[in-house]
Amino acid sequence: MKDSHGRTIDYIRISITDRCNLRCRYCMPEDIPSISHEEILRFEDILRICRLAGRLGIRKFKVTGGEPLVRRGCLPFLKELKALPDTEQVTLTTNGVFLKDYLPELQALGIDGVNVSLDTLNPDTFQYITGRTDFARVMDGILSCQACGIRTKINSVLLKGVNDHEFWDLIQLARDYPLDVRFIEIMPIGYGRDFQGYDRSSLLPLLATRYPDYEVTKKTRGNGPASYISIPGFQGYIGFIDAIHGKFCHQCNRIRLTSDGMLKLCLYYNNGINIKELIRKQADDDELLTAMQDAILRKPSEHQFFHTALEGGEELRKMSQIGG
Ligand code: SAM
Ligand code: SF4
Repeated sequence: MKDSHGRTIDYIRISITDRCNLRCRYCMPEDIPSISHEEILRFEDILRICRLAGRLGIRKFKVTGGEPLVRRGCLPFLKELKALPDTEQVTLTTNGVFLKDYLPELQALGIDGVNVSLDTLNPDTFQYITGRTDFARVMDGILSCQACGIRTKINSVLLKGVNDHEFWDLIQLARDYPLDVRFIEIMPIGYGRDFQGYDRSSLLPLLATRYPDYEVTKKTRGNGPASYISIPGFQGYIGFIDAIHGKFCHQCNRIRLTSDGMLKLCLYYNNGINIKELIRKQADDDELLTAMQDAILRKPSEHQFFHTALEGGEELRKMSQIGG
């Protein structure tokens, strides 16, 4: 459906858990209290919301977390999501630690793509950033995904003084494999406020010093707001997701469902509708559908990361609680 700013909303990011097996410094650096099992949306409720979302024209589903693959029942859930009548696409965003273990099932259910977060190619830096020693497992997961022909994208957050010197090495992944490498600008949400990052306006001129014959691609790749360039001789593309400096709100196509059942309309704001409460009050499908429709019509025109909030309260959740 279209929101009140004329944007077609056809994509939802669903966080199925706020728990994670990594402790990325800019996301969940320490053990933070997680949502209790009673407060987390049950898979059957998420599927009901997705089925109704399908009726509103939302047909592309990105499953995220926390780390989605740590929630028991994630694979059967993905399979059911894929089988809903209006589903066009189900993709997963993961830290990749359990990717290889679940690959046969992901392949069997027909996953449409996997985004793997990887900020470094150095096992020590991996441990520094994530607090864990799983680098080899993540790489293994990525390469296995490639070997089975699953569409793979790498998401990297470059942080000043932490991993920025790895820009060139990370890019090489797109030369060596048919996968896209996208650089996500760090957002001032949760622990991300403590870091400084990079956006396209600084990375592209740098890239041009070694690859002056890169070309800007106009073709869209995937559902996201990334802008892409191609480099001759590279198999995959290089993308930039600049949520702050390359504001793309005017073409925003998405809403989010948090694991505690909030339908979130913009990453920046903490408003939305508490869909879990409606479900627990025994709302029927029509009531839920109307509530979702009304919420989408109230989707804010743009984020206010540069200003004081104008249209509602600033998001106080951590990124691990929202799902990116
Ligand atoms: N655990 C999964 C993963 O790491 O891909 C899914 C959830 S994670 C919250 C989704 C994405 O959000 C990751 O690519 C992560 O790097 C990114 N992220 C986390 N905190 C961020 C922040 N403050 N700004 C920008 N991206 C962030
Ligand atoms: Fe976990 Fe992903 Fe956050 Fe890292 S970015 S702590 S892997 S949820």
